[in-house]
Amino acid sequence: MRIDIMTLFPEMCERVLSESIIGRSRESGLVEINCVNIRDYSKDKHRRVDDATYGGGLGMLMQVDPIYDCFCDLEEKIGSRPHLIYMSPQGKTLTQERVKELAQLPNIAILCGHYEGVDERVIEEIVDEEISIGDYVLTGGELPALVLADSISRMLPGVLAEDAAFEEESHYNSLLEYPQYTRPYEWHGKKVPDVLISGHHANINKWRREQSLMRTYLRRPDLLETAELDKKDKQFLENLKNCELK
Ligand code: SAM
Repeated sequence: MRIDIMTLFPEMCERVLSESIIGRSRESGLVEINCVNIRDYSKDKHRRVDDATYGGGLGMLMQVDPIYDCFCDLEEKIGSRPHLIYMSPQGKTLTQERVKELAQLPNIAILCGHYEGVDERVIEEIVDEEISIGDYVLTGGELPALVLADSISRMLPGVLAEDAAFEEESHYNSLLEYPQYTRPYEWHGKKVPDVLISGHHANINKWRREQSLMRTYLRRPDLLETAELDKKDKQFLENLKNCELK
């Protein structure tokens, strides 16, 4: 899969994307992520890419032409049109479900806004989708773009040590993950739950499933509405509710 991040701060993105799991996956060609500098497409002699907003108001806005030219050049280089996502606090909030879907696409491009954002007309003209990473506002789209690129990349085959690793993680199946422990066995008087050192895999799986259900019920009950639950899960949750009522 190929991801192109269109940004005014390519070095900032490059630094993060060169580290750890994503850095290694890029090196070994499991995912291609490029950081493209929108400023390289400015026709202004001072390489300006922003201007004051029509109608007045505080702050500057990114202009249409450098963004448009950057995207057209990308399209030409790739040989097909990438799905263009604009990171925006006005977009749909990112979910694991959407990440899964985006990870199926061959090419995506991510547009990072800065200052007051970007001229509306370029959104209308070339953007396929607007994505937000939460109901708060950041200074730029770089951190959101990195969040998106990371979350998509780790779904690609070979990126994680075991491909199924993410299937048990929080949100993959609309459930939060169960609690996990590593050595030492005892710390500050707290011991690892007995079942986890029993070696009995069926009991361990049952315990993990119930912990996962309980956590989701207590912390994010809204997720249970879309979770795939079998008869035993439903019974367990029913018992949990009854315990609470008593
Ligand atoms: N004036 C814009 C508004 O009120 O909707 C906010 C602009 S924000 C200061 C600058 C850029 O940061 C945006 O263009 C967007 O790319 C990015 N950004 C800020 N918060 C974000 C969020 N929660 N999710 C995704 N991108 C965000």
